[in-house]
Amino acid sequence: MSSHVINTTETEPLSAGLYIVATPIGNLGDITMRAADILARCDGVACEDTRVTGKLMKHLGLSKPLWRYDDHAGDKDRARLVDSMQSRAVALVSDAGTPLVSDPGYRLVNDCREAGIPVTTLPGACAVIAGLTLSGLPNDRFLFGGFLPVKEKARADVLAELGAVESTLIFYETGPRLTKSLRAIADVLGVREIAVARELTKMHEECRRGLPDGLIAYYEANPPKGEIVLLVGPPELVEGEHDLDALLKEALLENKPSQAAGKVAKATGADRKALYARALELRTP
Ligand code: SAM
Repeated sequence: MSSHVINTTETEPLSAGLYIVATPIGNLGDITMRAADILARCDGVACEDTRVTGKLMKHLGLSKPLWRYDDHAGDKDRARLVDSMQSRAVALVSDAGTPLVSDPGYRLVNDCREAGIPVTTLPGACAVIAGLTLSGLPNDRFLFGGFLPVKEKARADVLAELGAVESTLIFYETGPRLTKSLRAIADVLGVREIAVARELTKMHEECRRGLPDGLIAYYEANPPKGEIVLLVGPPELVEGEHDLDALLKEALLENKPSQAAGKVAKATGADRKALYARALELRTP
């Protein structure tokens, strides 16, 4: 609606309102020209952590008032910030990437809209999209699931709910929890094509593709450091791209023949008994 549109192509002065500004997810070179321009011209920056944003501002050679803001901010604090946007141009940034994507801003944007404050967005880096593009997994349809729950039962429930969706599933993940999540995926979803995208845009960027059991074995031997996007291919992908022997061999790395047959059957729809017989043959050298 026109009342919510801000024209950021004008030069001085920046009109009052909220500017949602994406920032880099690791490589500072990924700041966009518009983001740098708005950060230079705004009246102040609402940010998760003033130290983190302070470093970005310093890198850009800028000095602006930084106001700490997150979704735990009290209603009064948020109301004050929204009210200030009647006359001030406020940039909202998170520590990294796109605000609101597993980051603060949801309530702020809604309160601004309700108060008739103009809101605009400056797109840029986002780990979901960076991970998806690098993974090579199907991208015609994808579902972003945020962080998987920490508790085992809740995590399994979410995976069971999303597992039937014929899309690539994308989760944010941390190093210490990666193998637990991979195990949960193996248990709940069976054999799926997985990508672990780590340290995107940074010096040690890597994207490792594989099946759950192989990746569990790898990351148990090489505990992952840094930030991670975990991507799970859609259900039909495994069947189309792998022969059953390869799937069974990988499943046998971590499972008994009956379990391996069960997982591959679940992932591919192939006959469990036939898979079990083949698993026994494959296990025999
Ligand atoms: N709003 C951010 C965005 O647009 O990507 C995400 C914020 S969320 C609190 C932080 C999570 O994003 C990390 O735990 C990690 O899962 C993912 N992430 C952020 N930067 C990343 C990077 N450089 N490489 C891989 N994952 C990253």
